[in-house]
Amino acid sequence: MTLEGHQLLYSGKVRELYAPLHADGSVDTSRLLLVASDRVSAYDHILDTPIPDKGAVLTQLSLWWFDQLADLAPHHVESTDVPEQVAGRAVYVRRLTMLPVECVARAYLTGGGLAEYAATGTVSGVPLPSGLVDGSRLPEPVFTPSTKAPVGQHDEPISVDEVARLVGPGLADRLRGLTVEILARGNDIAAGRGILIADTKVEFGVDPAAVPLGGDGEPQWSRVDPDAVEIVLADEVLTPDSSRFWRAEDWTPGRPQTSYDKQVLRDWLTSPASGWDRAGDAPPPALPEAVLELTRARYVEAYEALTGHTFTPTR
Ligand code: ATP
Ligand code: MG
Repeated sequence: MTLEGHQLLYSGKVRELYAPLHADGSVDTSRLLLVASDRVSAYDHILDTPIPDKGAVLTQLSLWWFDQLADLAPHHVESTDVPEQVAGRAVYVRRLTMLPVECVARAYLTGGGLAEYAATGTVSGVPLPSGLVDGSRLPEPVFTPSTKAPVGQHDEPISVDEVARLVGPGLADRLRGLTVEILARGNDIAAGRGILIADTKVEFGVDPAAVPLGGDGEPQWSRVDPDAVEIVLADEVLTPDSSRFWRAEDWTPGRPQTSYDKQVLRDWLTSPASGWDRAGDAPPPALPEAVLELTRARYVEAYEALTGHTFTPTR
């Protein structure tokens, strides 16, 4: 998508990143426009059919969380006064130097965490009690970082020691503390509203001026004072795209949990009605109107349940 007065920097699976241009056409290097599309993924495919309002719902939800978490970490949002074309689903943010770690925390055991636990009794090297099953709540949230893989590759889990090698022990410690606190706060708030946040991924950055660059132009994290530097919460936070949301009343450890947002869509895709073979090479078919509407309703429901606000489309 082209956007007047902006230069497209990057197009991800779900979001686009633009640099605003100054009046003279030069790039404003201090800010970014982060745009959420209505695209949705399921079973590692981006579906052809967008979910109406999804980008706006997730953008508004992130904004609400940034406020709820403001005492834990400063956030990157500068303004929601964005071009009409992307109204409601974009924000202007401080352009940061991003820490090269996907900061994941888990409050419940499932997915990759469950696989590691089954093999070793640990997650990210942290020993856990025996007898936990798919969906068990962990005694306390655990930091399970991963690499930031280049486009098209999967993020790989890394140990806390590896994070320390990447950014230094002081910063690694702060990232772990912040990530775990954010998930714990998220669950404190969500629990009273019928939602469990099983796990989440957050990303942090710092002011570019605070990070010396090496001869290769790469940030030298080990030269940053970990106690003095301001660590800013960036990207999106505690959304269904960055987290696993479960409906609290359906939570039953010992089996896979129902995902709050995508269950309708996944159920249809794997039903005979879709005619789609998950194991085959063909991309998933277009979604019928009813599945679209139900999926949209799930996103809106999550937003409204969490925030207590009514979602008003900006379209
Ligand atoms: P995927 O499509 O798998 O999600 P992705 O995470 O690389 O890939 P997006 O989430 O669409 O892609 O893009 C957001 C990108 O913007 C990420 O690379 C993120 O690190 C970066 N980012 C987010 N906030 C900021 C910020 N304030 N300053 C600089 N970069 C940021
Ligand atoms: Mg992302």
